[in-house]
Amino acid sequence: MGFHRFLEATYPLVHRNLRREQVSKYSLLFSWAGKNPALKPVILMAHLDVVPVEAASQSLWKVDPFGGVVKDGYIWGRGAVDNKANLIAILESVEKLLREKYRPNRSVYLVFGHDEEASGSNGAGKVAELLQARKVQAEMVLDEGGFVTREKYRVCASR
Ligand SMILES: [Zn+2]
Repeated sequence: MGFHRFLEATYPLVHRNLRREQVSKYSLLFSWAGKNPALKPVILMAHLDVVPVEAASQSLWKVDPFGGVVKDGYIWGRGAVDNKANLIAILESVEKLLREKYRPNRSVYLVFGHDEEASGSNGAGKVAELLQARKVQAEMVLDEGGFVTREKYRVCASR
């Protein structure tokens, strides 16, 4: 719930202008009504949870895994990449668009599950059931994916 409070304080326009629902207590569903209800909505997803640090690997961490330490130009910690970068990018974008008084043509749903690392069935899964019950049919769903890096490209290209 502390993370919910952080999001509310950091993205006030998102919380003021979009409909916010909590699903299964911790997952979040934001609904941004578009100008044209005939258009199918877009769904942007990320997850709020991170995997725990196993006791056996605790000593391998050189920083507090949940400290969000900024060191050598990087944010260190569990979840810094998976998947808070997506979450923050989505919310930064929507907050900026709201500041500019933008309103999308098609509705946009933001879905932030809380248990992706443990199957997602109680978080995003319940949001999907809710949207299905409301007969929401998306034009597109964008969720996290793999990385695209030069290093991976080189590995793939050398095969
Ligand atoms: Zn992830």
